[in-house]
Amino acid sequence: MQQAIAPATKTTHFDVERVRAYFPILSREVNGCPLVYLDNGATAQKPRQVIETVDRYYRDQNANIHRGVHHLSQRATSAYEAARETVAAWINAPASHQVLFNRGTTDGINLVASSWGRTNLRPGDEVIVSTMEHHSNIVPWQMICEEREAKLRVIPVSDKGELDMAAYADLLGERTRLVAVTHVSNTLGTVNPVREIIDQAHAAGARVLLDGAQALPHMRIDVQALGADFYAFSGHKLFGPTGVGILYGREELLDAMPPYQGGGDMIERVTFEKTTYNTLPHKFEAGTPNIVGGIGLAAAVDYVAALDQEALAAHEQDLLHYATGALESIPGLGIVGTAARKASVISFNIAGQHPFDVGTLLDQQGVAVRTGHHCTQPLMDRYGIPGTVRASFAFYNNRADVDALVDATRRAVDMLS
Ligand code: PLP
Repeated sequence: MQQAIAPATKTTHFDVERVRAYFPILSREVNGCPLVYLDNGATAQKPRQVIETVDRYYRDQNANIHRGVHHLSQRATSAYEAARETVAAWINAPASHQVLFNRGTTDGINLVASSWGRTNLRPGDEVIVSTMEHHSNIVPWQMICEEREAKLRVIPVSDKGELDMAAYADLLGERTRLVAVTHVSNTLGTVNPVREIIDQAHAAGARVLLDGAQALPHMRIDVQALGADFYAFSGHKLFGPTGVGILYGREELLDAMPPYQGGGDMIERVTFEKTTYNTLPHKFEAGTPNIVGGIGLAAAVDYVAALDQEALAAHEQDLLHYATGALESIPGLGIVGTAARKASVISFNIAGQHPFDVGTLLDQQGVAVRTGHHCTQPLMDRYGIPGTVRASFAFYNNRADVDALVDATRRAVDMLS
């Protein structure tokens, strides 16, 4: 089911045109112009392998998993569990039962906040997040801190969009129970020094959750090398289907945590007097999961894994630097987020113009970008702006996409002035 079809040969040159041919949507038009899709941070497009896997599943294989003795149920179960193995291998999880399927990053963070937080946070304890977090990595912690009478502490960010690591060191203390930070900022593109963050948190006796929503699409992740206690990400940003995501956790932590939701599949035995729970990963997977989502996500991982990772990373960095230079040459344009280490995400504003107006004019020219606060309102407050225009690049974008963005932005500036 998850056969790897190598879309590009292994060379140091990234053959972007060959890769683009695997993404059918990239050849459509929008508003009479060729689509230039630069909203990959919100969701990525899907290669043919994923689309065909989903289609084939419903045509040929659909059944509920884990509970049936019949042929289709067994095939679906095998495909779903094989998908878990594929994802576990891709992130180098020690065992596939440490890889929990869920709805996405938001769901994974809520699971940890709810299950781990409820059992481990005491009044006066502290949880550290950062100013650049997505609301998904703020609000669940606020909710559980309020419930447990714990305190939320916040790592500040610099004008360039880097975490203030000295302030982080000061925040860490004996009351710190958990540090929850994003690996890559969805708004600024900043790649955070997560190894350092984890090492310092562990030295202070705290656990670390990394929000990997924006990291997986741009870089290879090794959860063991990172030493993260929890790592959450979304399938749809990783070229897979929507409605499926992953939470990786350390075995001893997951084992000790109570279930997040009750229902089918997560139980061992139910009586009205007492219910006992299933083992990992099923303890955290109540109800019928997004079966085809998991299988489709594995198809996406197989697709990405077949690409030359080094060439892919170099290609994305080339797009980042090429686009940064070209955008900066537009009068009145200011880039928000100029960290030394960035993924291929560029937020910008045009002096005197609202990001929505710029985004609307770009859309009229076939260029899809995101505008607004990007679910990072505290970060917008930090910079005193209502939002930004964000162009987020995937490996299937090319320099022609950058040129189209820059030309369309210039025209938008002319039209608005
Ligand atoms: N964290 C970050 C950094 C994100 O960029 C996003 C989505 O944009 C999320 C979390 C939430 O992801 P999802 O909506 O797939 O749960």
